[in-house]
Amino acid sequence: MTKFETLGLDKPLLDAISDLGFETPSEVQEKSIPILLEKETDLVALAQTGTGKTAAFGFPMIQKIQSESRTTQGLILSPTRELCLQITNELKLYSKYIKGLNTVAIYGGASITEQARQIKRGAQIVVATPGRMKDMIGRGMVDISKIDYCVLDEADEMLNMGFFEDIKDILSNTPDEKFTWLFSATMPKEVASIAKKFMHKPVEITVGTKNAGASTVQHEYYQVGGRDRYPALKRLADANPGIFSVVFCRTKRDTQRVAEKLIEDGYNAGALHGDLSQNQRDLVMNAFRKKQVQMLVATDVAARGIDVDDITHVINYQLPDEIETYTHRSGRTGRAGKSGISMVIVTRSETRKIKAIEKKIQQNFISKKIPTGIEICEIQLYHLANRIKETEVNTEIDNYLPAINDVLDGLDREELIKKIVSVEFTRFYNYYSKTRDLNSSEGDRDRGERSDRGSKGGDAPSNGSVRYFINVGERDGYDWMSLKDFLRDTLNLEKEDIFNVDTKDSFSFFNSDAQHTEFILQTFTEFKVKGRFINVEVSKDPGGARKGKKRDRKRGHRKGGDGGYRKGGDSKSFRGGKKGGSGRRGGKKRPGFY
Ligand code: AMP
Repeated sequence: MTKFETLGLDKPLLDAISDLGFETPSEVQEKSIPILLEKETDLVALAQTGTGKTAAFGFPMIQKIQSESRTTQGLILSPTRELCLQITNELKLYSKYIKGLNTVAIYGGASITEQARQIKRGAQIVVATPGRMKDMIGRGMVDISKIDYCVLDEADEMLNMGFFEDIKDILSNTPDEKFTWLFSATMPKEVASIAKKFMHKPVEITVGTKNAGASTVQHEYYQVGGRDRYPALKRLADANPGIFSVVFCRTKRDTQRVAEKLIEDGYNAGALHGDLSQNQRDLVMNAFRKKQVQMLVATDVAARGIDVDDITHVINYQLPDEIETYTHRSGRTGRAGKSGISMVIVTRSETRKIKAIEKKIQQNFISKKIPTGIEICEIQLYHLANRIKETEVNTEIDNYLPAINDVLDGLDREELIKKIVSVEFTRFYNYYSKTRDLNSSEGDRDRGERSDRGSKGGDAPSNGSVRYFINVGERDGYDWMSLKDFLRDTLNLEKEDIFNVDTKDSFSFFNSDAQHTEFILQTFTEFKVKGRFINVEVSKDPGGARKGKKRDRKRGHRKGGDGGYRKGGDSKSFRGGKKGGSGRRGGKKRPGFY
């Protein structure tokens, strides 16, 4: 395995890397760092966000820059304020052992005079958004006429946002003999033309597949009637109690409207769009980062450069006009080797767009059904039971216990459990039990052939398939991919035999053909992994209570699990020592119940 020590980096950088806990270089780092250190060259790197590209250009730039000179030698252009600040922070961490090296961020929405003051004090590296950079050049507040290195980060996003002219202007203020390193997730025509126009024989490196969406993302679409978009969105959220998501709308108005409705309906939602002040945007982004906002409703432009890890779902409330934009949206999840789900809510007439996107991303979509009310009840019920189990006991209650015991006197354990669960569940059940099916009747008309086969997760339950409940989920380190792998390995079945794997917080569902039922249940009888009982039961399709009460009782020992069982849902991640998580907010009431 390659080590950072072999890439040609100096000690101050290696020490900083070790402080950061990075153990091994990511692919983009391994490919670009030695080239950039050894050669003076232009570079085009195709790499998704979250692959570690900041360090891929940051380490070489820091090493090559003369920290004794106060001249600005490196310029990094990035599409958003968010990203700009993030790159600056990362570079500061990387250069912490290099005396005198100063990195300054310049971006819109903050005091220009303060930024100019910081530049004046001496900034060898400037990280900037194109708009503010152009503004400051125009006012003579920054001098980039002597830079040696220029990074165009997320070039495709900068061009998507209409920064082409600004970038051209900015580059015309830089010397011809500088070196340009361009990083982009995709290579649309516009980016290729920038590379051609401003770069000389760039070395090209590609991480993963060119122009493809991140392969760790599962793409799903849900077909509903035009008026059912909003109720469908709510159901998708309710069926995923641990959701931490970005919901994309096409216009600022829709974004605001959907966010307001969600908040009204009691969800932890927030809006992010261009009509908000910078202050309002900061507030919502901070809340999102702290996971106080679980559903960030955003326009494409406002969401550019959102660099929040652990986003579990991207929901396309409406599809974007440009296919390219879909790649940017779905790239917000499934970062740094983690898995993610990109959901699209479509009406029948929009399903043809799905085909065009599939072609572009070279991945198939899975046609899924909006969960029925009863199915959601089932999910929420298990989730609730788990929350009760996980709740930390508040010792303040102790003083009141004798009195509470008096009140509850005469109730046996089973009755008590039923009542505790009902306190919350009944409200939820009352809301959902009488709701109709939201799936548009035409369903998968011309797409039936996609069912189950050839897709990673599988399709909605097909005839002859059985849906199962399994008592492990994301909390145990699983995502849909690793759980599918685990089931396939354990059961020794083929790839297509396990499908429609839906991981929840502490439990999951999956499907398999009816012919395997006996075998599956048999295999998971008294089945233990590292001392923990793994329990599989048939889940009534599509809703209703779980069958197999007897089995349940027999396995009252489930609670005997040691809880220490972890499987590498996160193992593909290159983030040394950083633990992934799904942004669950277990204790939060999902007020969609009302
Ligand atoms: P980036 O793609 O540059 O936005 O990086 C994504 C995240 O991965 C950042 O939080 C980095 O701090 C982290 N990271 C970058 N390189 C490594 C590495 N080699 N090992 C572990 N984490 C890393």
